Amino acid sequence: MSNQRSSLSPHVLIFPLPLQGPVNSMLKLAQLLCLQNIQITFLNTEHIQERLQNCTNNQNYFQKYKNFRFETVPDGLEEGNPRTADQIPNILKSIEVNVLPILREMLGTCGAYGPDSESPLTCIIADGIFTFAVDIAKEIGVPLLYFDTISPCGLWTYLCLPKLIELGELPFKDDNLDELISYAPGMEGIIRRRDLPSFCRTKDINDRILQLVLEEDKHIPLAHGLIFNTFQQLESPILSQMLNICPNIYAIGPLHTHLKTKLAEEKTSSSSIWKEDKSCMSWLDSQPTKSVIYVSIGSLAVMTKEQFFEIWYGLVNSGSKFLWVRRPGSVSGLEIEFEFDEIPLELAQGTKEGGKIVSWAPQEEVLAHSAVGCFLTHSGWNSTLESLVEGKPMICWPYFVDQQVNSRYVGEVWRIGLDMKDTCDREIVEKMIKEVMELKKEEFSKRAEEMAKLAKESVSEGGSSFEDLDRLIQDIKLMKIAANHD
Ligand code: UDP
Repeated sequence: MSNQRSSLSPHVLIFPLPLQGPVNSMLKLAQLLCLQNIQITFLNTEHIQERLQNCTNNQNYFQKYKNFRFETVPDGLEEGNPRTADQIPNILKSIEVNVLPILREMLGTCGAYGPDSESPLTCIIADGIFTFAVDIAKEIGVPLLYFDTISPCGLWTYLCLPKLIELGELPFKDDNLDELISYAPGMEGIIRRRDLPSFCRTKDINDRILQLVLEEDKHIPLAHGLIFNTFQQLESPILSQMLNICPNIYAIGPLHTHLKTKLAEEKTSSSSIWKEDKSCMSWLDSQPTKSVIYVSIGSLAVMTKEQFFEIWYGLVNSGSKFLWVRRPGSVSGLEIEFEFDEIPLELAQGTKEGGKIVSWAPQEEVLAHSAVGCFLTHSGWNSTLESLVEGKPMICWPYFVDQQVNSRYVGEVWRIGLDMKDTCDREIVEKMIKEVMELKKEEFSKRAEEMAKLAKESVSEGGSSFEDLDRLIQDIKLMKIAANHD
């Protein structure tokens, strides 16, 4: 058996959290591993798989990798469940209750070989929030690598929470959100209460998300290693701190750039779970360089009707051209398709003259377009990296989880944008756009372009992310040998 196994290639099961951002980055990692002759079983929920099938040619695209296959499991949620941000605790619970038994059977029946596969699984890469993965990996007898698809600076604040609770700093003693937090090694003088992840504002220590994150904190150090979508120059102080929790860290990002670099001229595939409206690309082609502000709050964030109109007025009043992604369901209690005469005249006219609205955009392409001068973003980690790599300054309006930390880093540490956190007022929106697009345009662009250069260098030969990916691949290949000797 041992000889037979050793002739087979290493085989990794990749299990992302079934949401747009994590699926995006895990698919990129999967391809990077496939290119190195590592066999991949990519486990999607049926819901995600169906949406990928409906919105992309992803399934065809992946057929070119003979060592890649999708497997699906039901997520156990009801048909009509919107699978929105507020459903994340339910999604996680449902995966644990409904998916785990199926997964166990799948792996158990096949003796850890994985269904329909010749080669045994030699490693599991799972989202960092999947605490159950520690037991599964143990049962199968293979190493577990956690890939935390949020930002390391965000994850580091998660890891500081037990101490903050012990110190009595959490829940906050009063409403002063500008108070600096006392315990955040590597982030001293940077993180105020308002910059901690949104769920830290709860008064209830038993809050579901907070409890899930505290569980995650306990499980992270149990993994064989941690994979991050970042690069050394961006988050070096945080990565050094993280080594105290897990001595085996692979910082291999920005993953989308890393993949593009490795594929050279070959095209990558979209992994959008909404249909991309590509008409915005020809619209961008007709706009002057750096004249457009791109607006998107990602796949999960939701705004109120009031916030929606404040942003809309701010954009129109700024006089800048704008490309705005209005994802269906992204404004609570409001249908966002308007007839011209249903909205105030100044908004209708301003939008007709200088705006383009789509329901979902090919974001990486949009951010790479020379007409885009700034990104008004919810500071999701993928969006942040995608903007950073293209040297586009950001105006940050974070919604939840790591986004409050990311926006603070964009504004105060990397200084490649402004943090609009906790405000949403048309005058502030207008003022910030003018500051980034006009008054301090050169300053922001220069810093953003310098950061973009560092990001690209990190994934080029000899760069830190390039080296870390190489090490990850070698380690996965060695894991195979370790498994053979079990
Ligand atoms: N995205 C996209 N088109 C859009 C808006 C977003 O392709 O119109 C992609 C974006 O490129 C990113 C992902 O959706 O890769 C969003 O992930 P992120 O981590 O930024 O935020 P989340 O959606 O998880 O809050």
